Amino acid sequence: MSKPVVAVVGRPNVGKSTLFNKLIGQRLAIVEDTPGVTRDRIFYDCNWGGRTFLLVDTGGIEPHSDDVILSHIRRQAQLAIDSADVIIFVVSLPDGVTATDMEVAAMLHKSRRPVVLCVNKCDSVGGLPAEFYEFYNLGIGEPLPVSSVHGHGTGDLLDAVVDELPGQAEEDEDEDAIKVAVIGKPNAGKSSLINKVLGEDRMIVSDIAGTTRDAVDSRVENRYGKFVFIDTAGIRRKNKVDDSVERYSVLRAFMAVDRADVAVMVIDATVGFTEQDSKVAGYAHEQGKACVIAVNKWDAVEKDTHTMQAFRKQLQEDFSFMPYAPMVFLSALTGQRLGQLFEKVVKAHQNNSLRITTGVLNDILAAATARVQPPTDKGKRLKIYYMTQASTNPPHFVCFVNNKELFHFSYQRYLENQIREQYDLEGTPIRLSVRQRG
Ligand code: GDP
Ligand code: GDP
Repeated sequence: MSKPVVAVVGRPNVGKSTLFNKLIGQRLAIVEDTPGVTRDRIFYDCNWGGRTFLLVDTGGIEPHSDDVILSHIRRQAQLAIDSADVIIFVVSLPDGVTATDMEVAAMLHKSRRPVVLCVNKCDSVGGLPAEFYEFYNLGIGEPLPVSSVHGHGTGDLLDAVVDELPGQAEEDEDEDAIKVAVIGKPNAGKSSLINKVLGEDRMIVSDIAGTTRDAVDSRVENRYGKFVFIDTAGIRRKNKVDDSVERYSVLRAFMAVDRADVAVMVIDATVGFTEQDSKVAGYAHEQGKACVIAVNKWDAVEKDTHTMQAFRKQLQEDFSFMPYAPMVFLSALTGQRLGQLFEKVVKAHQNNSLRITTGVLNDILAAATARVQPPTDKGKRLKIYYMTQASTNPPHFVCFVNNKELFHFSYQRYLENQIREQYDLEGTPIRLSVRQRG
């Protein structure tokens, strides 16, 4: 189930990073701290009052001229409006209400997204100064006094955030639809692909003017199943956020992936693989999402009998961290192999949800250890007592062993491959973890 997203916006120097660090550092339990997502660590899995949500770091704003700052804040606020369930708008008591604050407040107000107004730098422990009440003029509700450096008021702030989170029932609405995030760099053909899909299947676009988060999702029902394309408003109405700034387009992709069951990685066949592709696909991989690679604009490639094989080989190298991801060579323009894309998406999702019984797993384990003996070190041999599946999405297997140190990566890789040989796990990463027993 996808978790609600909470974003922090505000001018430079109001104390957003201080607040952010306070929130994640002290008051919140950070669960599921996925190792490896350090390079672009932007989501923090948080829990407050029994509700979990993702706190998103929309990044700092470099102080340039006032114009530049304003356009950055607009972009940051728009991103939060498009992607977050609740927005924390930070202003600063000593600065009072500024023109920029007014502008951001108007944007947030118009979006009708829930906003929690944080008046930061309320450091004095006595009563609130008269200036505090000015912030009611922003017209977006009750200001909450906070001192991020001292940590005062952050509990009330989090209570207010949790109150605004969407109800659990709302979350379960699309239980049987597969949530698909279409990712890839600008111009790869993401909007063309989605428009083709939506056009062909005469789908019902749910576009309830910015009231609920689902307003940016599009539903499709066709002979392959039910699907929800995530964040497609942003894709279809291209000017909403200026994607020229790489961080924002990557961030947007990350947020879509986070809510998705399956990521469709769109590559422009006329351009080939790029660094940005490995960033977003790598994120999908680390988050354990199913993934299908769509090699788009195949119509525009000059082909002979070897072309597809050569492309496949090159892309297998480029995406060597996710060898399980199938490739579909398609054209959003002509609709070529669109059906195959849907088949692969459905299959990847099924495999991502696969559950293997402990009995079968241990048969695989017994056969695997008979074929290739577990490694030894200084006269000690690795013993794998048994293996069980702990969870799905992605399939997560736990091995109980005599000595963790002996369970080298290469042998883990070997076991993973043995499982993949028995089960068709196309399209999904799998996780293997190790527990040591006496
Ligand atoms: P950002 O640009 O919005 O992320 O702001 P920062 O978090 O970098 O904070 C800007 C400055 O304000 C820093 O010097 C912080 O130490 C200071 N600051 C942040 N929160 C508070 C606060 O609650 N009280 C006071 N007095 N200063 C604060
Ligand atoms: P996005 O930025 O990823 O959403 O990319 P667009 O969907 O806006 O497509 C960028 C450009 O590529 C547009 O000019 C499209 O017409 C073109 N395009 C998209 N898909 C295809 C395709 O399958 N074949 C060809 N030849 N052009 C395509």
